This record gives sequence, structure tokens and C-alpha cells, in this order.
Amino acid sequence: MNKQEVIKEATRKYDEAYMKRTPKSRAALEAATRVLPGGDSRIATFYYPYPIFLDKGNGCRITDIDGNEYLDFHNCYTALIHGHAYPPVVEATREVVGKFATSLGAPTTLITEWAETLCKRVESVETVRFCNSGSEAGMMAMRTARAFTGRNKILKIEGGYNGAYDTVVHPPNSAGLPKSVQTDQLTVPFNDKEAASRVIHENKDELACMVVEGMMGAAGQIPPQNGYLEYLRKTTQENGVLLVLDEVMCFRLDYGGIQRIYGIKPDLTMFGKIIGGGFPVGGWGGRKEIMELFDPIKGKELIQESPGLPAMARLFHGGTFNANPVVATAGRIMLEHLTEKEIERINRLGESLAAGIKSIFSNLKIKSQVTGLGSLLNLHFTQESVVDFKTAQTGRKELMHLVHLGLLERGIFIPARGLFALSTQIGEKEIDVAIKAMEDVMTELKPIIEEAWPELIG
Ligand code: PLP
Repeated sequence: MNKQEVIKEATRKYDEAYMKRTPKSRAALEAATRVLPGGDSRIATFYYPYPIFLDKGNGCRITDIDGNEYLDFHNCYTALIHGHAYPPVVEATREVVGKFATSLGAPTTLITEWAETLCKRVESVETVRFCNSGSEAGMMAMRTARAFTGRNKILKIEGGYNGAYDTVVHPPNSAGLPKSVQTDQLTVPFNDKEAASRVIHENKDELACMVVEGMMGAAGQIPPQNGYLEYLRKTTQENGVLLVLDEVMCFRLDYGGIQRIYGIKPDLTMFGKIIGGGFPVGGWGGRKEIMELFDPIKGKELIQESPGLPAMARLFHGGTFNANPVVATAGRIMLEHLTEKEIERINRLGESLAAGIKSIFSNLKIKSQVTGLGSLLNLHFTQESVVDFKTAQTGRKELMHLVHLGLLERGIFIPARGLFALSTQIGEKEIDVAIKAMEDVMTELKPIIEEAWPELIG
């Protein structure tokens, strides 16, 4: 057999074993696609041959509708920091639902408590506003930066994911986007100081902000290198360009977010995922003088209002379900329970999982990478060192597919792209189980790798 035939045959075998174990999920997808294109409402949940459909989750364990149990290292792409059905969140939100409707026509003090808990942790965030997704947070952060600077262009990281909103979506030539996205969105590779410096200098009079994640997430948990974030902070500041740090994924890495790890103070920060305690959420905040654009009390001094017109801020932000009592409660509780000690504990567990996987690769002489920081790590089946989107793309996708299905077969649930995101419900025992599963999968796959990807052996 040639290399392609070896890959095809291995894929057929792994797919077949998967389908044998998950017939109800297969049928569920068929039914779903009759009313939902793709069978869901979220592209990221799909993988080949089809995703498992879930029945329930508890702590660090989930069960699919075929009754298969998995240890959850997916945690909804990092969002479920306390795992499934976390009792303190379940109890508190149940109480709130019993007291209120889930959306109200007036604020509650629950929102203030939630915002205070967040602002206390993140030094650069003096004030914050909430919305319903990280994508919305990105949309609003970009709008805020444009309104504050009076400029239009946005600089982002090549291949970086800052949400599904037009201005920052990847790739900028996706179908359905207005042409203005291509002219207003500039990109530079991650970890490339020179490229960032050049583009910022050349465009500073038109550039509203640079948006960057502290560690590239969707591209495969790629940490910043050689003072990259610190350099971006300095260069944007020197050129009067706002720095927007996307902490939607990275916030979990430190009590004060990844910005505290690297000692930087962005002008604006985007939040999402964990800050909602498992409910739909987004938020963005930062310097008071910027966020004041949303204040109708201050706005009144600046905007000529006609009597009888609704209150106006200089910058509009609406949303029926923004900061509803359920998410405000769940979010506050999640933050209160995510103590400095718990973050350190799961970061250490993440590091021992990464070390365990690296030693499997090394013992089996498989050239591959494990990237990430603390409780977030990602596999890359490439001999290249992964520092940005392009190098991450050199990973062998067919091999990742086999590893993914091999781990599912052994009861380890991760996203198809090789991410491991730990929750606080994980302990050393579960890490050992994951390492053993990884060892079994890689040992089983070694003869296939030798034939199909010999360049990864040695
Ligand atoms: N920013 C980052 C870094 C993300 O990882 C995501 C989602 O994965 C988003 C923004 C968008 O968040 P949401 O999916 O809540 O819209």
C-alpha cells in the first residue's frame, strides 16, 4: 500500500469502530440535519464522521446518548471551568429562576456584584459591560475602539479567532462578508514583532486598535514568545493605537487573566466563556475614559437631546438578555469559586498532562508538539516548532483525526483539533487515565505513522 492507501485504510477502520459504538448519535445527526443544516447551530461541534450527541454531564464526566461515558477534557472549548452541573451554580441559578424571569426590563444589583468581582481581579478593567457571547464582546470592543479613536481599521492576528463578527472574522475573504472587511482588517502573524511594528507604524493614522489573544487559542494554544505581548503594548501605546486583549479563552490561566502573567495593561479586554458560569456570556471593559462612551448620564452633557426621546449614550449598546439575573449569578459564583489556589492546581495538572504526553512522544520517537500554558494544551502532529497560525497548519490533520477517534474510543472527550482544557473537577487520577489513553493510542498508531508519515519518526 502507498501512503495514501495506508491513511485511507486506517481512517476507515477508526471510523467504523466509532460508528459501531455510537449508532444513536448517528441517527440523531440524521434527524437533526432535516431541520438544522449541519445538524447543530455551531460549526465547532462538528467533526467527521459525525459528533456524539450528549445525554448528560456531571463534574468531569459526560455520557452520550448511546450510553458511552467519557472523561471531559473538552469542557465546551474551555468554557466549563467547573465542569458539568456544578452544584453551587445549579443551586444559586435555580433560586434566581424561581424569583425572577430570566430577562428583566430593569437592572438588578446582581449585575453590579458580578461586575465588581470581575473588575477586582483584572487591574486594567476599571469598568465593564456585558453581552451574550464572546463574538458580541468582540463586535462591541471594535466599535468602542473605533468610536474612541475616530479611526476605522483593525489590526488582528493572522488565523486568530476573536469571534464570528464580521470585522474580525477569519478568514477575511469568507463568503457573505462585505468588501469593507477586507479593506478595514489588517493582519500580522503571531509572535512576529517586526511585522506588527511595521504595520502599526504605517497605518497609525487609520488604525483604531490591535486585537490579540494572550495565547492563540483556536489556532492551537500557541503561547507568546520573547516578550511579544509586552512589545505590542509598548508599540501600540507609542503610536496612539488601542490594544484590545482577547481574554475569552485565556482568562482562566491566572486570577487576573493572562495579562497579569505577562504584566501588561491593555486599553480594552474582551471576556466570554468562563465568566458566565456556563451560561451564554460576553463582556468587554477597560479604561474608564473609554468605557464612558456608553454612559447616558455623561452622554446627556454632550448630546443635544430632544425632550421625550429615549436616553442616549454617545455609543449605543443594547441587548434584551444582556446581564440577565441568571448569568449574573452564575458568573459571580463561578468567579468566586475560581480561586487563585484552584487556578494554580489545574495549571499544575495541565503541565503534568503536557509532560506526560511529551514523554510518550519521546519514548515512541514520534516527532510532535504539545503547546499551551497551564490548564490549556494542544497536540500538533508536526516536526516544526509551532509559533503562529502557519506553523500550526503544518500538523497532519488525518493523523489528528485518528488520535481524536482513538481517544474517544478510550473514553477521553476532546475537540477534534487536539485541545485539552482542564476543569476544576479534574484530579491527578484523571490525568493518569488521560496519559494512559494517549499512550495506548499512540502505541497503536505508531506502525501507521511509520508507513504514512515516516518523517515524523526519529
Ligand atoms: N474570542 C476567542 C479567543 C474565542 O475563543 C472565542 C470562542 O471560541 C470567541 C472570541 C467568541 O466567543 P463566543 O463563541 O462566545 O462567541
